Amino acid sequence: MRIVLLGAPGSGKGTQAKLLMEQRGIPQISTGDLLRAAVSAKTALGLKAKAAMDAGELVSDEIVLGMVRERLAEPDAERGFILDGFPRNGAQAAALDALLAEIGQDIDRAVHIQVAFDELLKRLTGRRTCTQCGALYNVYFSPPRQEGVCDRCGGTLMHRDDDNEQTISRRLRVYQEQTQPLVDYYQAQGKLATVSGSGEVADILRRVSETLSA
Ligand code: AMP
Repeated sequence: MRIVLLGAPGSGKGTQAKLLMEQRGIPQISTGDLLRAAVSAKTALGLKAKAAMDAGELVSDEIVLGMVRERLAEPDAERGFILDGFPRNGAQAAALDALLAEIGQDIDRAVHIQVAFDELLKRLTGRRTCTQCGALYNVYFSPPRQEGVCDRCGGTLMHRDDDNEQTISRRLRVYQEQTQPLVDYYQAQGKLATVSGSGEVADILRRVSETLSA
């Protein structure tokens, strides 16, 4: 199954994508993760992307589309995938449809995970990620047993560079202006399902899974 997860920064897309990946045996493809890996590896692409990411702006479509095209060509994406953080604007959505059409495929379902604005802010400012295994925590809602240390693997927890208040408000504005219209795009294609992203992670997963089985 080919799935797009839509939702504001902090809506829990990444958490749900990881759980769906385990449940369905198809890869999570997060353009944010791919870009952060390129930035840490200091590749030419990473160096180009860094300034936009630090400012909370979108990285150019050209860079992101090139990366997605390469990733979708890998063998594990043949049986399906969960796109997390892509597409992020109309041009990317149209380019994705065109790319898939070239190989006779299309998106099966777009799931919009909806969360109130105030909750998004708390989730983003409190978010911590394990530098070793990628596990996600939140200092307000789901803190690790020991501050700064991953419960699962003992790795160091980090606060993402772009999870500071100024960049967060910019990222939320960019979402509203550029990404939110994709809800209508997928609605018009008859592929959209909207679920509430508030409450327990397991309940949200159940809601997402139900829309995928419907
Ligand atoms: P994320 O982890 O999805 O919140 O992405 C972090 C940052 O990476 C965003 O604020 C953007 O600067 C950049 N980014 C991730 N995905 C995309 C995309 N599809 N298009 C453009 N920029 C992106």
